[in-house]
Amino acid sequence: MKIINSLKDGGEILKKNNISSYKIDCEILMSQTLNISREEVLLNLERNIKKEEKEEFFNLIYRRRKNEPIAYIINNKDFWRDKFIADKNVLIPRPDSEHLVEQTLRLIKKDQGKRILDVGVGSGCLSISILKERPFCKFDAIDPSKKAIKLAKTNAKLHQLSNRIKFYKRDVDNFYNDKYDLIISNPPYIIKHKIKYLDSINYEPKIALDGGLDGLEIIKKVISKSKYLLKTNGKLILEIGHDQKYKVTKFLKEKKFFINNIIKDYGNNTRCVVSTKIN
Ligand code: GLN
Repeated sequence: MKIINSLKDGGEILKKNNISSYKIDCEILMSQTLNISREEVLLNLERNIKKEEKEEFFNLIYRRRKNEPIAYIINNKDFWRDKFIADKNVLIPRPDSEHLVEQTLRLIKKDQGKRILDVGVGSGCLSISILKERPFCKFDAIDPSKKAIKLAKTNAKLHQLSNRIKFYKRDVDNFYNDKYDLIISNPPYIIKHKIKYLDSINYEPKIALDGGLDGLEIIKKVISKSKYLLKTNGKLILEIGHDQKYKVTKFLKEKKFFINNIIKDYGNNTRCVVSTKIN
């Protein structure tokens, strides 16, 4: 069977299952099957594929048909300037979270060696992206999930950064350490009863999404704890839900943080808050 025909058949299957990105998804899954780039797939549409390759391609299509995210099927995701391994133990890195990287980088000069804490490290995409851009910084990274820590360690190794990031399998409640210059966090912030409506919910780990009854449980814990873990004038860079701006900034002010900046994401939703611990 020719590549072009497999792509068409695969596309039909995904289309019938309301996968709107069916075209690009098929191309990505074909490139994964044949172990060539997407561009090469498109340049070789008339090439015949072997029976085993066709079977493998349609196995991947059937996984995608059930709404399994592409990143989990191909086990990686582009984020900031790099590729990261992703699996079902961690949230898939989102373009919107790149705002946290951007905002953090704005606060650190190239030659500065800051100590930074990542609360809820997940795949490690935030810490690793920042470390690559700031060669003198060091990270501590915590996550309550053992499997997430294991994956983040693998990603750190892959990017040759194991010597600049230390991992702790720990809840923010149970983490005590010296003071940090900056704390970054993309904590779980989805309201518990709304999690079931997320597209990828059968695949992504609930622990990385569940923000409790009001969606703010973990965010509040991170803010309260940051008050102790940050140096005076230390910065907290936090990802929040699109409708949490008012409540989060109110809580930050109660805890005596100064709000520096509130950043919108690519969808024009409030997504990132930068604040300073003032005393
Ligand atoms: N942005 C994610 C979503 O809407 C949620 C991430 C999180 O809870 N930290 O699916």
